[in-house]
Amino acid sequence: MNQNKGILVVFSGFAGSGKGTIMKELMKRYPETYALSVSATTRDPRPGEEEGREYFFKTEEEFLALAHENQMLEFAQYVGHYYGTPRAYVEQKLEEGYDVILEIETQGALKVKQLIPDALLMFVTPPDADTVFSRLTGRGTEDEKTIARRMAKAYDEADIMCSYDFWVINDDLDTCVSEVHSIIQNEHARTCRKKAQIKQMKQQLSSYVK
Ligand code: 5GP
Repeated sequence: MNQNKGILVVFSGFAGSGKGTIMKELMKRYPETYALSVSATTRDPRPGEEEGREYFFKTEEEFLALAHENQMLEFAQYVGHYYGTPRAYVEQKLEEGYDVILEIETQGALKVKQLIPDALLMFVTPPDADTVFSRLTGRGTEDEKTIARRMAKAYDEADIMCSYDFWVINDDLDTCVSEVHSIIQNEHARTCRKKAQIKQMKQQLSSYVK
């Protein structure tokens, strides 16, 4: 078994929290450390989004067939569409030693935590509610109704944040990316993630003990 298996990091946040930008920056800075899972979704591509880069865009039939074949680690419905994490990529990259990042919503995140209790759950928000609203309207990609739904969703999600391991605030992007990186890397030092290495250390020490 690989003793240096990566950590599964689940990253969620309010719509407009800048999760996508944080993840892109993290990948750019540390391409040898992180692998970003690309999800499948039944929603339409937004302008500028590419198949296989932001998402694998599926019809509902295609999506449900994949879920049925157990090819999704988790999936959930979010504002009227399905979103899910293809399982094979995540398992392969963890085995290769990458810290694998899932950028997913809260129902999916909690399912992952149940399935894989040592997954690290991080939640990101803007510094305050006004900034949540202004980032959503500033994006210019959603209509008024969708923005209202996403604000209501954020209101509900504020309760779920307590089920996460960490809350990070994205006020300044650079600071936030550094914070996310150090939280994940510190996590590697936890003794509960080092059982095999501790056992090895004890074995080495045993030759010095009479
Ligand atoms: P968007 O449509 O803005 O790209 O994403 C909507 C929400 O779906 C975001 O909160 C995003 O994190 C979440 N999401 C994206 N991929 C997945 C996935 O594979 N599984 C789950 N459960 N949520 C996802």
